[in-house]
Amino acid sequence: MTTNAELFERSARIIPGGVDSPVRAFGSVGGVPRFIASASGATVTDVEGRQYIDLVGSWGPALLGHAEPHVVAAVQEAAARGLSFGAPIEGEAELAELVAARVERAGVRPVERLRFVSTGTEATMTAIRLMRGATGRDLIVKFSGLYHGHSDSLLVDAGSGLATFGLPASAGVTAATSAQTIVLPYNDLDAVRRVFDERGDDIAGIIVEAAAANMGVVAPLPGFNAGIIDIAHAHGALVTYDEVLTGFRVSECGWWGLENADAAEPYRPDLMTFGKVIGGGMPIAAVGGRAGVMDLLAPVGPVYQAGTLSGNPLAIAGGITTLRLADATVYERVDAASAALRDAIGEALDAAGVAHRIQTAGSLFSIAFGEHDGPLTDYAQVRASETWRYAPFFHALLDQGVAAPPSAYEAWFVSAAHDAEIVDRIAAALPRAAAAAAEA
Ligand code: PMP
Repeated sequence: MTTNAELFERSARIIPGGVDSPVRAFGSVGGVPRFIASASGATVTDVEGRQYIDLVGSWGPALLGHAEPHVVAAVQEAAARGLSFGAPIEGEAELAELVAARVERAGVRPVERLRFVSTGTEATMTAIRLMRGATGRDLIVKFSGLYHGHSDSLLVDAGSGLATFGLPASAGVTAATSAQTIVLPYNDLDAVRRVFDERGDDIAGIIVEAAAANMGVVAPLPGFNAGIIDIAHAHGALVTYDEVLTGFRVSECGWWGLENADAAEPYRPDLMTFGKVIGGGMPIAAVGGRAGVMDLLAPVGPVYQAGTLSGNPLAIAGGITTLRLADATVYERVDAASAALRDAIGEALDAAGVAHRIQTAGSLFSIAFGEHDGPLTDYAQVRASETWRYAPFFHALLDQGVAAPPSAYEAWFVSAAHDAEIVDRIAAALPRAAAAAAEA
């Protein structure tokens, strides 16, 4: 039998850090990452044959649970018809229509056009190119601790792996590029107003996670998302609302749907980005939005964007099947599992005397250790929390067969396959993890 340790060693000789995406390397929690051989429902099984309850969910896509049989069958059937054609297929319009139709509230449909790409990074990169192309301006505003993928302009003061490894920025991004990205504290509308008062004529647009979930989970304060749209529009700038992580995960209609559930006049971002759940585990993402902006994309307009594997038939099949299956019952199950798990975590940590706050945005959540007066609202507060308690907590869970995200700065993901029995099994592992956090 090959062990995780042997594979990690072998991989690290040929793949930098042994992984193809940094957070997978267990860098901030230490230890050997598990090399996954297979996954099903709420569990993953490593190469040593050990099964874990999975709370990573491929970092978001696995809303229905792993290897959902209908999704697997749809992808297999698509594969049998051919892997990639470099030509349009019928399913692209179908998936685009499914996405657009879900993002609707009170007659407002912010997704009038949609284009598929292969990764969330491409989606947000295209969105900022579109905002620049539409306005003829250079500057982009983003928020500290938010992550939008790894394109140059968006790697400044970003969350996810950069937060995990404590990196303020990435080497290799030119000073000129960084200078075109203005970084502001999250949830601070006054800061947004000030920067637009000073430089509004040069700002192409704002990009924001619909709800921040790459510095741990930090929900937007009421009025923040609507407020930045008002400010940007007052200055002729655009807003990209990044739902790569939240889209179709926190509700049938994403975070936008949750925030606008009862709104008479839903706020309307100019562009939205999607990924993860829209492929159910296949590599696909999308940028969508107002027709007037989206139609600037080539071949209609002058903003260039392309992709050999864009709209790949297997990914389209995975996406269509996933979204068709992701009905209200699925979200009820995911919400219930998340709530039960949060309660169990809270109880275990309280019983062990570990001060903490569980941060939520819909079914997404993360744990901020330490005393906090109320919900944490920005990156500075997250960084000031007792993140060192996370590694022992994580490893105590892992030792007991529960795989939480290997970083204090990542959200926890549950799926529709996380039923009451799975939650009970996690709950049984929590007291030891809480004790480990207490001792840290
Ligand atoms: N935007 C958000 C909000 C994300 O969470 C991520 C990835 N976690 C991305 C963009 C980038 O997506 P990808 O990793 O597919 O490039």
